[in-house]
Amino acid sequence: MSKNTYTGLSWITLAAAFAPYTHAADLDASLKSIEPRVVGWRRDIHQHPELSNREVRTAKLVADHLRKLGLPVETGIARTGVVGLLDSGRPGPTIALRADMDALPVVERTEVPFRSTVKSNYRGEEVGVMHACGHDSHVAVLMGVAETLVGMKSALRGKVLFVFQPAEEGAPPGETGGASDMLKAGVFDKYKPDIVFGWHAWASLNTGTIGYRSGPFMAGSQAWKAVVAGKQTHGSRPWQGVDPIVTAAQIVNGLQTVVSRQIDITRIPAVVSVGIIKGGVRNNIIPDSVEMIGTIRTFDAAQYDQVTQAMRRIVENTAEANGTTAEFTLDPYRNPVTYNNPELTARMLPTLRRVAGDENVKEIPLITGSEDFAYFAQAVPSLFIMVGVTPKGTDVTTAPANHSPLFYLDETALPLASRAMTELALDYLK
Ligand SMILES: [Zn+2]
Ligand SMILES: [Zn+2]
Repeated sequence: MSKNTYTGLSWITLAAAFAPYTHAADLDASLKSIEPRVVGWRRDIHQHPELSNREVRTAKLVADHLRKLGLPVETGIARTGVVGLLDSGRPGPTIALRADMDALPVVERTEVPFRSTVKSNYRGEEVGVMHACGHDSHVAVLMGVAETLVGMKSALRGKVLFVFQPAEEGAPPGETGGASDMLKAGVFDKYKPDIVFGWHAWASLNTGTIGYRSGPFMAGSQAWKAVVAGKQTHGSRPWQGVDPIVTAAQIVNGLQTVVSRQIDITRIPAVVSVGIIKGGVRNNIIPDSVEMIGTIRTFDAAQYDQVTQAMRRIVENTAEANGTTAEFTLDPYRNPVTYNNPELTARMLPTLRRVAGDENVKEIPLITGSEDFAYFAQAVPSLFIMVGVTPKGTDVTTAPANHSPLFYLDETALPLASRAMTELALDYLK
């Protein structure tokens, strides 16, 4: 009895003394051993890309893997979403780690041997499909992180929720999808994560680099539409009608003053763009209406209100000044601002610096692109980081950007992404 107790005690003492070393060595070994499989999964997913809300094969790959790890798994959330829960069995916080699964209607033009030749249907047209935003790597890395964390369960407290979401790039017309639908399906209500971490493969940074930003990080995006009503007439007798084309031209120019004259750009920037103008069919007919469609990018709610109110004023009053009317509408679907919680960012920054090296962790400028992760970030404090995937020595200012048919993801960047996500989780749950 006493001998057993003594043996037990000495084992515990030894284990405690060597615990940090053992965990670090275990972690290194685990991350190293999983690297080739992460690359394998990534190539497989890359070769079989699926459009938003159609991520059936990818979701099955994920669910099969999580089940094999012994995790309880839920599938079919918001169409194809998958979650798996790792419960350490010890009290502690719950964290969520998120990956997005969808690809884009882009014909791949890279030379990689596993390039996609997949075709699908989008908006009634046959299109090529490509993982041109790197979501294939997000899925593969998170599958690897799940396996590593399951193997280190004894070093954890609390729970880790692995969230694989559909439709980050936006659901096809007539459908909803993505993070907001997963939240509506009650994923966070059920598992109650305290915080969320996410990452993005980013062509604007070189391999080995992590980009972060505290507070507003990626823009809120909002599509808008303005329809100017005119009165159709012969092109030779404009005085007999109302010309919506001239009015639309004045509106396009007027909208340029929203950001340049009405927003305090020293506080935070904004973008207003017109992407479509449609009106008229013939050289000698003044049409009865013109439609304009564009996008707004803002970084906080007050600025959003200011920008949209100024736009409405300009659209409606310019039309009125020309003796007609215009209808200004905002698309009901919009992405909120991706906001990195400042306390959480400060708390996790040492982890990022440790895994990438001080000089490789960079505070990067605001990004006017938007990200569906923003919905999760609205629900709970979160941190979203960029991991460089453009090979070292390649100029990131000329490297093909995310969404380009030539977007090239350097696979030697993936171990850093895996380590960052794993260690963010481990450090938070320490
Ligand atoms: Zn994208
Ligand atoms: Zn993306």
